[in-house]
Amino acid sequence: MNTLAVDIGGTKLAVALFEGERMARREVRPTDREAGRDGTLRQLEEITHVWARETPIHRCGIGFGGPVDFTRQRVALSTHVGGWQDFALPEHVRRMVNVPVVMDVVMDVVMDNDANVGALGEAVYGAGRGALPLFYMTLSTGIGGGIILADGQVYRGADSWAAEIGHLTIRPDGPECLCGARGCLERLCCGLWLERDYGRSPRELMQDPAFVERYVVDLAQGLKCAVMLLNPARIVIGGGIANAGDALFVPLRKELRRQVTAWSRARLDVVPAQLGDDSVLWGALALAALSGRDPAQSSRFS
Ligand SMILES: [Zn+2]
Repeated sequence: MNTLAVDIGGTKLAVALFEGERMARREVRPTDREAGRDGTLRQLEEITHVWARETPIHRCGIGFGGPVDFTRQRVALSTHVGGWQDFALPEHVRRMVNVPVVMDVVMDVVMDNDANVGALGEAVYGAGRGALPLFYMTLSTGIGGGIILADGQVYRGADSWAAEIGHLTIRPDGPECLCGARGCLERLCCGLWLERDYGRSPRELMQDPAFVERYVVDLAQGLKCAVMLLNPARIVIGGGIANAGDALFVPLRKELRRQVTAWSRARLDVVPAQLGDDSVLWGALALAALSGRDPAQSSRFS
């Protein structure tokens, strides 16, 4: 079984081809913001056409960097790149990959937002293995969240909008977020705003212990909400900022312990992602397998 895995983010397009559970090919390209949706789709087509000529592609999983209407399998919108609104991306990819050599194969394509897909990747192949229910957070240009339930399924809520931890209000009188509200977790803690507010890269800021001590107060507020609502077995944090390792995680764990209600016996197990930049690609493999109900895959959760 060969699976095409696609990760469409705000700044990059990553594509992988899995033969079974082996990543056989991988290609990453920066996305051209000016070229918008069509530019990204052209890049994806160039890559997949070459691969599909050499290897049949049986199914495809997609992680999209923005809200997705999962039931309708349509992109809701992208806050980073124009032209994606209400776009049936899986349908487009199905037509794109069906080059003559695989014309007789009806390819399954399934899409979810990249935080849900990253959560699945870490739950099945990374730092979340054996630790369900899992809460996953991406701490990157923006902030996203994903919930994997004890049965290994993604919890999406009634309308696919669950786990949007980035827009929890942390400071009601805080600065205005791109979403229009004030003091959102994303507004206070994501890479985009750290850079704008402090004029230093997140990587630099995370090496400054005095800064990190203040930073984790807001970050822990967000995670406290996840702990109190979900009581996850583990919290996995991915995204570029999580690469700071102990410089971030040691003070963060301490602050979270301080904040979480004293009588709560909820475990506080907060770890960095293991799959690095590839959480979403591995998650796309898991998503395609789950939706195809491949028993070899679903048994991994039990
Ligand atoms: Zn917001």
